[in-house]
Amino acid sequence: MKLYKPDYFDRFRCIAGDCPDSCCKEWGVQVDETAAAMYRSLPGTLGDRLREVLSDEDGETVMTIVDGRCPMWRADGLCRIQAELGEEALCKTCREFPRLTHDYGDFIELGLELSCPEAAKFILEAHSTPFIEENRPGEAAAEYDEAAMAVLKATRKHVLALLSGSSRPVGETLVLALLYGYQAQSQLDGGDALPFDPDAALESARELAKPGSFRELADFFLELELLTPQWESLLKNPAPASWDPRTPALARYLVNRYWLQAVSDYDLYCRVKFMVILCLLAKYLGGDLLRTAQLMSKEIENDADNVDALLDAAYAHPAFTDDKLLGMLLGAGKS
Ligand code: SF4
Repeated sequence: MKLYKPDYFDRFRCIAGDCPDSCCKEWGVQVDETAAAMYRSLPGTLGDRLREVLSDEDGETVMTIVDGRCPMWRADGLCRIQAELGEEALCKTCREFPRLTHDYGDFIELGLELSCPEAAKFILEAHSTPFIEENRPGEAAAEYDEAAMAVLKATRKHVLALLSGSSRPVGETLVLALLYGYQAQSQLDGGDALPFDPDAALESARELAKPGSFRELADFFLELELLTPQWESLLKNPAPASWDPRTPALARYLVNRYWLQAVSDYDLYCRVKFMVILCLLAKYLGGDLLRTAQLMSKEIENDADNVDALLDAAYAHPAFTDDKLLGMLLGAGKS
């Protein structure tokens, strides 16, 4: 079986007490069954505390958040479970975060989550995103429509090339990714693989573009589930900036994470719009892109309801029509 991972994947190390945020804040971590059973059977004060703070919600065991943080998080920034029992005693979520695994049956792709500040540095500082290929023992059958996956892999390669090393302004680069995504959707629907002419695509984009409203775009996010007061404050008090040169790296991260997932429902274009909307939002909110994008990921990508709401809204919300997105990307947006 083949395994693919970004070239920075193995260089990631959790910086624990030095982390400017923490995955031990705000999130109610889901605890897998094996770990939950072990925690509940532990003797001593650690076991007593775990029995107090583990709760069952909708058939899942969750670590209750106490005063905005995981109750196992010690004052020195380290985890009490890890300190007393070792890393192998961590639940699956904590052991793996921020590592992502996409298992397609006959191949696996790994990645890092942008919501971790240390991982965000690797993601946003990468000038391109080369993947390392490894062989893993064992063979499994493909768990997808092979023709659709072939289209998605080929088109992802093309869009990543558009987003890598472009000498065009960032907004135009994202316009090309959006329009190419539209064409890739047609191909996924059974259309021919047509040549993509960037100059002609930009000319069409300028004709189609209409002024969009960044404020309307940000207001949509205020209607979603909000995790932290910092995010709410940023959405209400943005500091619009010019395009950060690291934005194409943000776009490549989103493409790598979501593009192939269209094999599950054949809906690629809503994922392309998802990527563009998040890049536009990061620009509008301003501040340091690393901090803004990390917080955005924590609020949106780590909340399945928020991801679903944005994928649905990509088609249905009046702020996210193609002409308005093109307008905002080309600088015709209102604040
Ligand atoms: S967010 Fe990342 S760096 Fe920070 S504590 Fe969690 S895994 Fe470590």
